[in-house]
Amino acid sequence: MIARWSDAETKGLDGLDLLVYGSRLIGAEPSLVVWGGGNTSLKTEERDFRGRTVRVLRVKGSGSDLKSIARKDFPGVRMDEILALLERSDMGDQEMVDYLAHALQELGGRPSIETLLHGFLPHVAVTHTHADAIVSLSNTDRCRDVIQEVYGKDVVSIPYRRPGFLLSKDVADALRAHPGATAVILEKHGTITWGQTVKEAYLRTIDLITQAEEAIKARAEGRPRFGGARVNPLPAGERREVALAVAPFLRGLVSRDRRAILHFDEAPPILEFVGSKEAGALSQVGPATPDHTIYTKRVACFVETDHPRDADRVKLALREAVERFVADYTRYVEAYRQEGTTLLDPFPRVILVPGLGMFTTGKDKRTALIVDDIYHHTIDVLASASSIGRYVSLTPKDAFDVEYWPLELYKLTREPPEKELARRVALVTGGASGIGKAVARRLAQEGGHVVVADLDEGGAKKVADEIVTAGGTARALGLRMDVTSEASVQQGFEAATLAYGGLDIVVSNAGIAVSAPLDAMVLSDWERSFAVNATGHFLVAREALRLLKAQGLGGAFVFVATKNVMSPGKDFGAYSASKAAEAQLAKIVALEGGAHGIRANIVNPDAVFQDSRLWSEDVRRERARAQGITVEQLEEFYRKRNILGASILPEDVAEAVLFLASDRSAKTTGCTLTVDGGVRDAFPR
Ligand code: ZN
Repeated sequence: MIARWSDAETKGLDGLDLLVYGSRLIGAEPSLVVWGGGNTSLKTEERDFRGRTVRVLRVKGSGSDLKSIARKDFPGVRMDEILALLERSDMGDQEMVDYLAHALQELGGRPSIETLLHGFLPHVAVTHTHADAIVSLSNTDRCRDVIQEVYGKDVVSIPYRRPGFLLSKDVADALRAHPGATAVILEKHGTITWGQTVKEAYLRTIDLITQAEEAIKARAEGRPRFGGARVNPLPAGERREVALAVAPFLRGLVSRDRRAILHFDEAPPILEFVGSKEAGALSQVGPATPDHTIYTKRVACFVETDHPRDADRVKLALREAVERFVADYTRYVEAYRQEGTTLLDPFPRVILVPGLGMFTTGKDKRTALIVDDIYHHTIDVLASASSIGRYVSLTPKDAFDVEYWPLELYKLTREPPEKELARRVALVTGGASGIGKAVARRLAQEGGHVVVADLDEGGAKKVADEIVTAGGTARALGLRMDVTSEASVQQGFEAATLAYGGLDIVVSNAGIAVSAPLDAMVLSDWERSFAVNATGHFLVAREALRLLKAQGLGGAFVFVATKNVMSPGKDFGAYSASKAAEAQLAKIVALEGGAHGIRANIVNPDAVFQDSRLWSEDVRRERARAQGITVEQLEEFYRKRNILGASILPEDVAEAVLFLASDRSAKTTGCTLTVDGGVRDAFPR
């Protein structure tokens, strides 16, 4: 591992800034810590609230991530209060948290649960990591021997214990017994290194890891990572086909209690591992380090199949594997639960399918990606550890004590409640502008993942990028879709399936308008109107129904039609007639989808001009002519025409779509909701 400390970059930085700098270097190295793991500290002198000079431990705050950490993320804890605890023989977690809260320099901070680990050590700067290379040595049946072989006597190894008061005591005691020790290895957990400066602690960490890496390399040299393939990977094209066929089915299986978002990974190291002879056994041993349990659960769900080519057999195997996982997980919680423990969702986070790849799950795409990232590290550790000895991990009891640790569960209760469309995926056609764009944004605001589909690929990607910027990693996907093309529609749905595992909401919105009196209408304009406004909705609905039925979680369609369906416009025949076909189609979707929990509803807007491509210059000119007014008078004419005298905005329509897409309208299907300000001149309805 390369040491990245730069004296030039750190010139003139003070103590806490150096700690921030060194911590970010650690955080930037994913084989040292991932996703909030590890922590760092520095002992300094500061003024307390009365102006007295006191020794203070600046230590990573609970819930911060080293790679993006800043000065404010290091709460200060007064050292004299920490050292007073060395007298104690034990201390409960909650008592420790409360105690530390009284010892803070600034009110309200929450120092890491591993604070005492840092505070009990005499050294100025302390670093704690979950380095892959170190757990590869320590998670083996040869742990003690191999650590001695690699490091000699000066690296102290400490048996696994859950972080907290007693582990901190263990480490302090061990160092008292070995004053010459240069580092501590926490078995099945990670490293502790130190120095008189942040730089020294950092360099020693890198040195410790590098020695482990070299030892592993020497032992693994010339040997395959795993002992050969049991199931060879399918060729890429077939993999994609099978993944597409099974992903919605799997999403249905793991979403029984609450919906999950899926991520599919077929990277070479994943394929090598899932198809290996050892994967079935190795994937059931346990996590590389306790932290990972929160994301990955204790073990992965391994799918026993030798026939990845046959999607139906894979589905069968998936069902069996997930059912077995849920039963095992429930038993595990029952075995170790204490009074008041409530079962977290019993579904797997990591699903390994030989020949095909890995699915990971999460409450959103970001979480599914984190699980995926962590399991990549797990596979590296499994491979390295297997070159040393037999891989071992936390006992199920120890894993349970971490997964159901009240201090971790406490973090969950402090998370903001999930939004209305959290865990859902929506596809919006015509999403690059006007109503479609407003709908995409509104659904994303309520927590949904959004696939923005449009003929204008650049426009769709731009809207998706905006959503990602506002809503977070991978929350939206922009793609080209020509709703008049079977192939293009199918490709769009496939991209959505591969990105999120399935779909919950379809907003069929793409449409065009041409304006001409019937006796002057050219056939191609009539036919194009039907291709987009009628056939386009059919192709989208057909593809979506297939996906939603395969998934088995119900679903919601919202068709964006027009006030013209009930009250057609003069010289607007092709538009009014083709949109009427759309509305009729929507009702058929409601009829055929009902038995599967699939709802379909219609929104009828009128005269939404803002950001609209439907209202092209030609259409504006023609509509003005038909109404006997000038183009400039057009928007005002439409506004005055409705009962409320209101301009209808894309956001008004988006609000109606949100209602029909959400569970608030769970008992409504086949219904039309108008957003037109009230139509005065309609034919009798
Ligand atoms: Zn740790």
